[in-house]
Amino acid sequence: MDASHLLLAFTVLAHGLISTMWGVASTWLGLSRKAGRHWMAANVAFGGAIGMTMTPPPMSEPARITLAAALMVLGGASFRRGLQFFLKVPRTDGSHLALGIGLALFNSLVLIPRDAYGAGAALSFFAMYWILLRTSWEAFKPIRIEFNVITASLNAILLNSAALAFALAGLTCMIPQWPWPWLTLTPENAQLALAFSTVALSILSSFVLGYIVVMRLVKRLEHLSHHDTLTGLLNRRAFEYLLAREDQRLQRFNDTFAVLLVDIDHFKRINDRLGHAAGDAVLVSVSNALQARAREVDRVARYGGEEFCILLPHTELEGAQQAAERFRRAIAQLNTIWDSTNITVTISIGLACAQSPGESVKNLLKRADDALYQAKAEGRNQVICAPDPAP
Ligand code: GH3
Ligand code: MG
Ligand code: MG
Repeated sequence: MDASHLLLAFTVLAHGLISTMWGVASTWLGLSRKAGRHWMAANVAFGGAIGMTMTPPPMSEPARITLAAALMVLGGASFRRGLQFFLKVPRTDGSHLALGIGLALFNSLVLIPRDAYGAGAALSFFAMYWILLRTSWEAFKPIRIEFNVITASLNAILLNSAALAFALAGLTCMIPQWPWPWLTLTPENAQLALAFSTVALSILSSFVLGYIVVMRLVKRLEHLSHHDTLTGLLNRRAFEYLLAREDQRLQRFNDTFAVLLVDIDHFKRINDRLGHAAGDAVLVSVSNALQARAREVDRVARYGGEEFCILLPHTELEGAQQAAERFRRAIAQLNTIWDSTNITVTISIGLACAQSPGESVKNLLKRADDALYQAKAEGRNQVICAPDPAP
């Protein structure tokens, strides 16, 4: 086994492993399916391109080089398309198709009949340069917005370095005699450079892409664990965490806050009369209305079933009462249209103000709950303020 066979084995193994990784991630783990499949195809194409340059005849050298160059560009386009799917930016299939057809025509009509397949390879390297440069530009902003500037910069540096490497490879094919002998194209160093640069590109880009795919998954899971799926509001767990933080502020800075426990009146009747889906629609429109009437710093959560909880930071009793009345009136005026039926609901609110640092959060919620119970008992559609806690 000589050096070129070892190199072939190394590149095929590296690209095979990376393709398998994307295949498993996209197909079996369901991670960014479309993008992952494109990145798998890109790696298969890169591996195939290198394998093609190294395999011995029967295929003629010009044919092998032309085919390898075409596979490489195909891999580049697939890599970019995958990132476009992942980042939901407009796809550029038209320009990829034009590039592919242009290269194929130019190679077969102009370069190959003149035996100038080195120029064909150079053109393909420049095409890769263009694809990677464009990818880096179009990916920077979406990655910065979704993740952070460091990840976006890392990706841009990687893609730009790879683009430069391909431009250099293109120049190497075009300039037969460089002042530095190591830069002069010989079949051996061309194979080596191509093999190592595509393997490096594949490994490093898979690392960055893998990182952003996992980051997106982690963010989604985080969002799911803090939000209610029906209404999109914070869930009880997230609310309790915020409440505990607000309580710490009260203990430390004596910063008063208020809690409103909100319950839809006679909600069961809607479910019974119009069905569960109508009930869900009411829950969504009540959630939206509460959220819309809340201040930016207030936190609205779905506490369970048809109960909501609103945290009003930095608010004293009088302000909280006004806010609660505002919420109550807004819901009383709300119309939910379901299946051409107009549904109106009212809410009852129990309000408790956290003013004394010694009171536990549990007791505060108990006071709000008692006030809510009283609002129900006294005829619903009203706000009841809990009395101060016993000393
Ligand atoms: P009250 O005025 O005393 O609060 O009466 P109510 O009918 O609103 O209260 P009750 O606790 O008897 O009923 C609440 C109902 O809310 C029962 C349950 O089926 C329904 N519910 C809980 N979660 C959901 C949900 O996610 N969707 C729908 N459609 N209904 C729900
Ligand atoms: Mg209830
Ligand atoms: Mg209710």
